Amino acid sequence: MAHIVLIVAYAASAVSVVSLGIAIVRRGRLTPASMALLALILSILAWTALAVWGVIVQPEDLQRMLAWTMPAAASVVASVRVLVWALSDASWRPSVRAIVTMSGHPMATVLAATIPELRALVAIDNGDGLQYGPVFWVHVAVSYLLLMSALLEMVHARAHIPLLARGRLAMLIVAWVVPFIINLGKVVFIDPGGPDITPLGFAFTAAALYVAVVRGGFADLAPIARHEVFEQLVDAVFVIDSRGNVVDTNAKARALAGLDEHVVNAPSLPFHEVFPALSRVAGTPGEHDVVVRGTPLVLDIATNDLTDPGGRYLGRTVRARDVTQSTMQRRELARIHNQLAREASANEELRAELANQALRDEGTGLHNRRFVMERLPELVEECEKHSTPLSIAMVDLDHFKAVNDTWGHSVGDRVLAAVAKAMEAATPPGLIARFGGEEFIALLPGLTAAEAAARADAIRAACAAVEVRTREGVITLTASAGVASCAPGNIDASKLIDAADAALYRAKAADRDRTWVAESA
Ligand code: GH3
Ligand code: MG
Ligand code: MG
Repeated sequence: MAHIVLIVAYAASAVSVVSLGIAIVRRGRLTPASMALLALILSILAWTALAVWGVIVQPEDLQRMLAWTMPAAASVVASVRVLVWALSDASWRPSVRAIVTMSGHPMATVLAATIPELRALVAIDNGDGLQYGPVFWVHVAVSYLLLMSALLEMVHARAHIPLLARGRLAMLIVAWVVPFIINLGKVVFIDPGGPDITPLGFAFTAAALYVAVVRGGFADLAPIARHEVFEQLVDAVFVIDSRGNVVDTNAKARALAGLDEHVVNAPSLPFHEVFPALSRVAGTPGEHDVVVRGTPLVLDIATNDLTDPGGRYLGRTVRARDVTQSTMQRRELARIHNQLAREASANEELRAELANQALRDEGTGLHNRRFVMERLPELVEECEKHSTPLSIAMVDLDHFKAVNDTWGHSVGDRVLAAVAKAMEAATPPGLIARFGGEEFIALLPGLTAAEAAARADAIRAACAAVEVRTREGVITLTASAGVASCAPGNIDASKLIDAADAALYRAKAADRDRTWVAESA
């Protein structure tokens, strides 16, 4: 009965180990780590088969069975060591030296099982049943030492085991502790003739590895891809666990953060200590200006949350791309663009100002004769279009020569400017310009002859109201005006001017200080 229970347990253990093997093979890519796992599975199956043989067949020659368990156990230990190397260093590949170191123990156990003199020292029958012999104890001691050193190596190298190494590390240690304890119990408490229950413990190993490798998505099983993709990325990538500690970095990240390539412990520090400048802005994706060890940089930042298949938060990745050069170029272009735009608008203002100046009179600030000659044809067109009359008034200051003669030319200039200002204020809706010397012209579109005469009177009144004070006395003067008007249909600018001139002449002749309206233009 006890035998049947044992056989079922061995079978269950074997099935779980075989399922792990199938899961690994179905992943497709064989890497050093996954091949070490397959070797481990085969060794475990061999050990299980030997244990089953010991139970079913009850061999006369228990010595032989025990002796052949040693190479199976030695291969288990060797596979674990290779697995640890492959997991600790993504770029690890089997070397001649590694193969020699690793196969020493299994070869020695094969020799011990084949050479009768040595096999006799595996288990000794001294009358009251089998006792373990010296060869067996040496094998057990070597196995435990190698296994312990492999596990210590794995703990020591955990910083190299990338991406959330810690959770899996615990899982891997559990995978070894259970069969180890069972084996210890078997060796110490069960005599060599009793059943070997060690292989049963490997069911736990298989289950733990299954979770770590298959469910956990062992990135390490594709170390080449990891190395090429992750390590060679142009972006700096920091992997941060749920407590905010940096658990992995790629080469660019270490260079950016100024971490020594070979500092093994660096990846276990809090992110804000490893890279304060980046950790401050890492919460906000997008471009950030940061100062890294005194150098201003522009970093384009993106983050990603990491979750396990059940959706539990495991940590996050922070990706930083150095876009300093392109951003600086873009900013310089924008600066030049803005400067050019500003210069262009300044030029445009200057050009408009110059154009304006060309049409203005310097002494009075009024428009000049050139402006009038450009504007008149437009006014003719507009008045014709709207069928309104076009009137003008020529205004000439009376006896201005006398002002110059009495007060001097510069006082005459002041008087001209003052009078111009006053007349300009009285002209709207028309427009008054300096036509030459002390002669002005009022353009009065839309006004009839009578309306234009009234406007001319208003302009003259404004002129007469001006008082220019000098130390010697107050200067006042009058003006004469000649008005001409054209009804729509046949408006002629030069005829208008001629008629207004003639009317002005008549006003002067009629003792000045008056408005004379031309008969018709
Ligand atoms: P009238 O009533 O017949 O128009 O007499 P008037 O003295 O005003 O006539 P006239 O055309 O003979 O003289 C105009 C004077 O205006 C001559 C010129 O010295 C003076 N004048 C013309 N332009 C300016 C100027 O810009 N500044 C000054 N101070 N005088 C000017
Ligand atoms: Mg005059
Ligand atoms: Mg004159």
